[in-house]
Amino acid sequence: MLRPFTMLFGENAAPTELFRRAGAAALNAILPLSCPVNGEPVAGVGALSARAWEKIRFIDEPFCARCGAPFAVDFGEGAECAACIADPPAFDRARAGVVYDDASHALIVGYKHADRTDLAPLLAGWLARAGAGMVTASSILAPVPLHRRRLFARRFNQSAELAQRLARAKDARFAPLFFERLRATPSQKGMSADQRRRNLAGAIGVRAGSVPLARSAHVIIIDDVMTTGATLNACARAARKAGAATVEALVLARAMKDTPALG
Ligand SMILES: [Zn+2]
Repeated sequence: MLRPFTMLFGENAAPTELFRRAGAAALNAILPLSCPVNGEPVAGVGALSARAWEKIRFIDEPFCARCGAPFAVDFGEGAECAACIADPPAFDRARAGVVYDDASHALIVGYKHADRTDLAPLLAGWLARAGAGMVTASSILAPVPLHRRRLFARRFNQSAELAQRLARAKDARFAPLFFERLRATPSQKGMSADQRRRNLAGAIGVRAGSVPLARSAHVIIIDDVMTTGATLNACARAARKAGAATVEALVLARAMKDTPALG
């Protein structure tokens, strides 16, 4: 007889979550996969439906030479956006694959929280596209660190997984333990740019064992989403302090001024 998990384990039992995850993984393995953006059936593993593809907005030039924010018109080579001129970021430049909107949000959340690791090749490809001309064999790809407790809850660091794939493709160095969280920070959801900056002050450092690697290096910080850039800036400051020569950032998706905060 089938009984609800709550009857078997109690209302808040941890096994329920384990069963849910195991069930989702098993279903994905035996049934045609659904599109992570709109749920439509798709033919192959890690694929998007045609309608979802239409919704994904890839970021191409013209954009700010520094932070990669798309421009509506071309201001010429090397032009920077007003935000970068007013308050220059700690990184030399940042690039993003796609606009962070409802469609890419669904995709990233599916990848992060719903066992859709089958999406990794697709997403790593988008990262590689955005990082063309940035990633070389002498680059060090360093994912934004998750705090230990959060890493355990999510089971894996999705930025590290993407960084590893990209490093392999470009023959670059993958340094998963380059950065470390020096203390746990509250979730930044709903925080203003200023609040995020204060939330992260002194929270990220270069791990002592990675300092020799950082010296005079070309470090590329890898993250999934860039909202205000506060996390990337905190990492960039830490890399510079450790002696990195060039510090850049590569993210899967970036929020736009006109997009509501999705978290
Ligand atoms: Zn900019």
